[in-house]
Amino acid sequence: MGQIQMKRRGVTVWFTGLSGAGKTTISKAVEQELRSQGYLVEVLDGDIVRQNLTKGLGFSKEDRDENIRRIGFVAHLLTRNGVIVLVSAISPYREIRREVKAKIGDFVEVFVNAPLEVCEKRDVKGLYKKARAGEIKHFTGIDDPYEIPTNPDVECHTDIETEAESVAKVWQKLQAFGYLD
Ligand code: ADP
Repeated sequence: MGQIQMKRRGVTVWFTGLSGAGKTTISKAVEQELRSQGYLVEVLDGDIVRQNLTKGLGFSKEDRDENIRRIGFVAHLLTRNGVIVLVSAISPYREIRREVKAKIGDFVEVFVNAPLEVCEKRDVKGLYKKARAGEIKHFTGIDDPYEIPTNPDVECHTDIETEAESVAKVWQKLQAFGYLD
């Protein structure tokens, strides 16, 4: 008989915010720290998910909501098996975020908040430039809405915080909620 593993509460940490706000950066840093401490962790990054799990979906409200619903489905499966799931997806619509949160239960909403001007100036992937030039339509913040979270568990102001400060905020909340040892 193998040793029985300690049961651990899984949780989905959901990073929402504009493109370039810092979702991927913070979630990757949190992932690294969790792994180094031996936690079970999985990352669902919007850009990667859209290349496989939700391939073919576009950026209409219906498709964006379907994208989030599918990510939420997988996050739920992992969470209930004790995994810490880090989701980074723009997830611009409040109602679907609420729906996914209600379904998963163990859920920490992180609002990665940087002003549009800052995200646009960073233009990490060069997408804002394309959106401004009209080469990309339905770009969140430019010609598509972003509904800000009304009551996030964590808010990272990445325009004035360092990456380490933002990561610490997430970590502290996970600790406070009892998801970490
Ligand atoms: P997103 O995943 O939200 O599209 P990225 O993580 O790809 O955004 O890009 C965010 C950019 O902002 C990176 O270049 C990162 O170095 C920078 N940045 C500056 N301050 C912070 C911070 N406090 N937290 C996260 N990223 C930050």
